[in-house]
Formats: sequence, structure tokens, C-alpha cells
Amino acid sequence: MPLNKDGVMIILSSPSGAGKTTLVKMLSTINNFEVSISHTTRQPRPNETPNKDYFFVREQEFKRLINNQEFLEYAKVFDNFYGTTRTPVIDKLNKGQNVLFDIDWQGADQIKNKKLDYKLITFFILPPSKKVLFERLSNRDMKDKLIAEERMKQFERDVLHWINYDYVVINENLENCFSRIKNLIDAEINNGSKDYDSEFIRHHINKLTI
Ligand code: 5GP
Repeated sequence: MPLNKDGVMIILSSPSGAGKTTLVKMLSTINNFEVSISHTTRQPRPNETPNKDYFFVREQEFKRLINNQEFLEYAKVFDNFYGTTRTPVIDKLNKGQNVLFDIDWQGADQIKNKKLDYKLITFFILPPSKKVLFERLSNRDMKDKLIAEERMKQFERDVLHWINYDYVVINENLENCFSRIKNLIDAEINNGSKDYDSEFIRHHINKLTI
């Protein structure tokens, strides 16, 4: 049973381009919410700060952490390894801090299956339509339209994982999406009533998957 004094684990996952990383950054500004910093073997992007956005490590170091069983979860995503080390997360939760995870569905599944003694709330973020997603992916700093097309194909596969999440939230407008997530977290923590229309979500997913 989770203790009331402990923090809560909040996972946000999404297909590429749905705006999840921005949402995690917005949620991290709430008092007592901390982002879990992942390890990755991918190269830093120009706008990223090492040890803040990620711990950037070589594959050898990543494998050492795997062998030492330091990861709460890890996965290979787009040819690179990503993982969450256990100790910083558990330390924060024990101090009563809520921990935000920006991780993919494989990591979310692993954390869920661990059935840790902390409350876990999972969110899957979706774009309003495939058209908007394609525009967002094409507008990113991508050299090549082919990458956007490749990510669209990946979207078709990733979207199917929505079923394993507590809540699916559509990111049409960043502020609204942020408030929706924040209200659902508040309701979960305080056993309040939840403003969530699962029929609407099912309908939206049907539209995205045809
Ligand atoms: P990016 O390279 O764009 O920062 O992240 C690519 C994907 O890897 C995103 O879906 C992101 O959520 C996911 N990711 C980032 N950190 C982790 C992690 O520690 N574990 C897992 N499983 N996925 C992660």
C-alpha cells in the first residue's frame, strides 16, 4: 500500500510529436514535482543540457548500469538506449516528491509491472489529428521529410499502446492539455471526481487509427 507521505509516480508517454516533453517541463514547474532524468546513449541535441535533459553516456557505460541492475526500466528507442536509474527516483518518492517520467510505452510497461509501493498514474498524449501531427513533425528541425514520414509510420504502431494507460489526453492546445493533466493528477491524489470522457477518447482513437 502506498503511504500518504510518499510521492506519486506520473508517467507521460506519447508517439513522437505529440508534445509530451513540453508538457513534462510545464508540469515540473508545479511545486513538489520533479522530472526523472534519464540516461541515454544518443547524442545531445544543440538545445539540450547534459545532466539536466539527460545523462548522456556511451553504450559501454549504459551496459555497465544494466549489468549492475541500476535501472528501474530501460529500452531501445529509435536505435538508442534510454533508461531510468532506480535510486534517484526512490529517494525523491521517499521524500514525498512527485516524480514525472517522460518515457516510452516499453518503460511504462516495465514500471507498471514492477508494482512498486508508490502510487502510479499513467498518461498517453495524442495529437488532435494525423494531419496536425504530420505538420508538427515536418516543422521540427528535421533535415528531411523522409524522417517525418518514418515517424508517421512509427506513430501507427505506437498509438496502439494507448490501451495500457490510465488516461489518454489530446494535445490540441498546450495550456488546456496541461490543465487537464494537472486536474486529473489532483483528482487522483485527493480522491476527487475525475473529468474524463472515455467514450470521446475511444472515438478519437478510432479516427486516428483508420
Ligand atoms: P528523444 O530522443 O526524442 O529525447 O526521446 C525519444 C523517446 O525516448 C521518447 O519517447 C522518450 O519519451 C523516450 N525516453 C526518454 N527517456 C526514456 C527512458 O528513460 N526510458 C524509456 N523507456 N524511454 C525514454
